[in-house]
Amino acid sequence: MVTSSDSASTAYRTCPLCEATCGLAIEHRDGKVLRVRGDADDVFSKGFICPKGAALGELNEDPDRLRRPLKRTGDRWEEVSWSEAFAAVDAGLNRVAQQYNRQALAIYLGNPSAHNLSGTLYNRALIKALGTRNVFSASTVDQMPKHLSSGLMFGAPLMIPVPDVDRTSYMLMLGANPWVSNGSLATAPDWPGRLRALRKRQGRFVVVDPVRTQTAAHADEHVALRPGADAWFLAAIIHTIFDEGLARPGRLAEAMNGRAELEAALKPLAPERVADATGADATTIRRLAREFAAAERAVCYGRIGTCTQRFGSLASWLVDALNAITGRLDEPGGAMFPTPAHEPRRATPTPGGRGFDVGRWNSRVRGAPEVLGEFPVAALAEEITTEGEHQIRALVTVAGNPVLSTPDGDALASALSRLDFMVSIDPYLNETTRHADIILPPPPPLSRTHYDVSFYGFAIRNVANFSPAVMPLPGDGWPEWKIQLRLVAGLSGLAAGVDDQQHVAQVDDFVCRQVVGREVRDPASPLNGRDPEALIAELGEPRGPERLVDFLLRAGAYGDGFGAHPGGLRLQTLEDNPHGIDFGPLVSKLPGALKTPSGRIELAPPAFIEDLSRLEAALDEGDSPGLVLIGRRHLRSNNSWMHNVPGLMTGRPRCTALIHPDDAKEAGITDGQTVRVRSATGEVTVVAELDPSIRRGVVSLPHGWGHSDEHARLRVAARTPGTNTNILASRHQIDPLSGNSVLNGIPVSLGVA
Ligand code: SF4
Repeated sequence: MVTSSDSASTAYRTCPLCEATCGLAIEHRDGKVLRVRGDADDVFSKGFICPKGAALGELNEDPDRLRRPLKRTGDRWEEVSWSEAFAAVDAGLNRVAQQYNRQALAIYLGNPSAHNLSGTLYNRALIKALGTRNVFSASTVDQMPKHLSSGLMFGAPLMIPVPDVDRTSYMLMLGANPWVSNGSLATAPDWPGRLRALRKRQGRFVVVDPVRTQTAAHADEHVALRPGADAWFLAAIIHTIFDEGLARPGRLAEAMNGRAELEAALKPLAPERVADATGADATTIRRLAREFAAAERAVCYGRIGTCTQRFGSLASWLVDALNAITGRLDEPGGAMFPTPAHEPRRATPTPGGRGFDVGRWNSRVRGAPEVLGEFPVAALAEEITTEGEHQIRALVTVAGNPVLSTPDGDALASALSRLDFMVSIDPYLNETTRHADIILPPPPPLSRTHYDVSFYGFAIRNVANFSPAVMPLPGDGWPEWKIQLRLVAGLSGLAAGVDDQQHVAQVDDFVCRQVVGREVRDPASPLNGRDPEALIAELGEPRGPERLVDFLLRAGAYGDGFGAHPGGLRLQTLEDNPHGIDFGPLVSKLPGALKTPSGRIELAPPAFIEDLSRLEAALDEGDSPGLVLIGRRHLRSNNSWMHNVPGLMTGRPRCTALIHPDDAKEAGITDGQTVRVRSATGEVTVVAELDPSIRRGVVSLPHGWGHSDEHARLRVAARTPGTNTNILASRHQIDPLSGNSVLNGIPVSLGVA
């Protein structure tokens, strides 16, 4: 919605920059953003905003943002028309598919794909049109272990329980720094305010992290765990719960399989056994287990630090196993499952489903199993460079910069340069897209519609908000969804005599029919048996994302059901409520929502039980003799994609190595000195920042930096390039179950540069 005064207008809009989904009030005039404030009336964020949201105008108007498609010849780029660019993409991708086969095509989806409506609605169509199993994304440098644990425990990889932070009285938080990250897999604007409120109502929160982070500094207690020790720590907590008779699964006790197996499997991992490896003493572990069990309402929440490590899947599983056996799962104040407005309405869900399979196929070179239809992004370079049948020859990237954000970035950059063809849907000529033959730029954020398909599914309250585009498409720009669907059309065989826009309209209708058709064919849907064409006709004129969102909302949990629930939600309802609609706190959904074949919570999936032997064996490895590397977040940054915004790049350089003063002293390093950080994979030079808040033996570097490629066009970022710390991470170090890269706990050495 837009309000106007003195020819300036204010538009209300959900911030698309991180998972928190804050409401923004955007004042603008003549296509220029004047000011961005937090929307005080937003039902979820109530006026909260962070520096990134406040800089949305700068991001929108970034002069380095591409306005027209670019075509590369050698090292030279030229702007070309959209039709010329699409023709080149059709030719490039289809040539490779015909000369080799569809497996010679690959796609990489970057993290911003999850934050924009086009990505969440249409990437699947693009993957399908490519017809390849070579699918990669940022999920395997982030949250894939969480998908795996949810898939195996609850039967659905997206069924990730979130901490009910507003109603809990005790939060045990591992590997997360929401004070700075604004939360992840737990969509909640204003984490600092919510954590302060928890303490104000006499609750407690405990942060387990190698660093006394900003979140830890505000906690009741900080446990400085060794990097990568979360799975041992959690196993010992659960061991104690069983050992001391504190297990109380509560309402869901009869809906759980594997309690005895879980107890038996964790028997060897007593606090006293794992204390040295974790760096937390056994007394502390036992006390925390008792506190957790005794709290009126408690929740354990683990995030990126628990995922991006060698036992990421085990740690993710144990977080939810702890919640389950203490009766904290699916209970207010515990770990709960959201009911987003676009979730299909199901009257009386019956527990049970097909469950979640992994390893349905394997990557060609290292044989890594697919998880969620993806291979580890750590395997992308070798799939391009290793000769043989099904070698990747052409790549599509969408909103990603894997050269900076995935392990061994130099090897990946070298591999990209060997591709026969590459196309990137991306607003920037960056360290990755500079290898593309064609770059197709999507419009800036304020020229897009927005509804958060991904993150309402992880929200700590059931809320919904729809944001129309604030500004028209600049120039002859194409909306991202049309770019995607035009690529789909090109891959699907173009009808002669039909123009680009008509192709898009045809594919759009096809995708819409598929989505509607799936729902009317589902016996559990209230729309089962309805005429899909009649439903599509009822959706009316809009096309593209608006039409799909309208359908999802009307068929969804609070929807009007196409007449079945008069007054129920539809897109127009959200358009009439620009500050969003709050459907209330999360409600219990189990056992009905379970999708496991047994219809029960699987506490002890065999894959995890088997992997415990690896965890136990690692106990005997002893201490790492040197230092280990971990990552970190900053409030003014988000992976690699905020470094070209001048307003976010002010202040002291942020790409520094945090080192404990005692470790620095031993290495002869002083504050502000340039140092070498070396791993088995690579070496970087970076400025040292001595900080007693980091645990001894640990070095912390932020990731997403390294903007020193002269072929990129990121002028602001290039002034403070930082260093690409992912070249210290090995492509060969992954969590074997999920394929997630190991980015924390990497052995490194330090020296003066
Ligand atoms: S916390 Fe996230 S959603 Fe909120 S303003 Fe900042 S970047 Fe935007």
